[in-house]
Amino acid sequence: MGRYIGPVCRLCRREGMKLFLKGSRCFSDKCAIEKRNFPPGQHGKARKPKIVGYGLQLREKQKAKRYYSVGEVQFRNVFEKASKLKGVTGENLLSMLERRLDNIIHRIGFGASRSMARQLVRHGHIAVNGKKVNIPSYLVRPNDVVEVREKSRTNSAISGSLDSTAHLPAPNWIEVDRENLKARILANPKRSDLVQIKLDEQLIVELYSK
Ligand code: SF4
Repeated sequence: MGRYIGPVCRLCRREGMKLFLKGSRCFSDKCAIEKRNFPPGQHGKARKPKIVGYGLQLREKQKAKRYYSVGEVQFRNVFEKASKLKGVTGENLLSMLERRLDNIIHRIGFGASRSMARQLVRHGHIAVNGKKVNIPSYLVRPNDVVEVREKSRTNSAISGSLDSTAHLPAPNWIEVDRENLKARILANPKRSDLVQIKLDEQLIVELYSK
């Protein structure tokens, strides 16, 4: 299944929470969750289904997949890799999603949303340790230096993103130098550092372990 290209606020409304998919709009009173926090569709307001069991596990997976803007197959592949690592699978999964290059670019404010960050990576504006990397799923490691490439330093999308994300704190596992458009990964993220949204990763593990 291809990438979702429909209205993203519907995805937040489906999950009943902000998934921060639209940059600065998510922090304004124009956010659809502030105005219409009920599921999309003709009967969205009337329907109040009680979600249990498989439904709960599915919603949790959809939430994570949408928050990180990752497709179904890719999400499953990340899960498979996470399950082969030492440690708790759910935490490994979130850590791997969080260490994706497109997520890093968003978290450090160079891309106002994950989709914009993904585009910046795809279009070759980003370098890791001095080399151009145009793969959004590239996983950064501790001590990696992520930066905007020299030729892209005047990119208006990046400066606009920096302005609109100035109020957001950088994650404590990344050292950000916004002036020089550079960041250094200090450590792998811990569970307590992860995701702005409430997520029970154990339900995702249960879903994929059936
Ligand atoms: Fe739309 Fe962002 Fe609000 Fe989600 S959080 S409903 S993407 S404005």
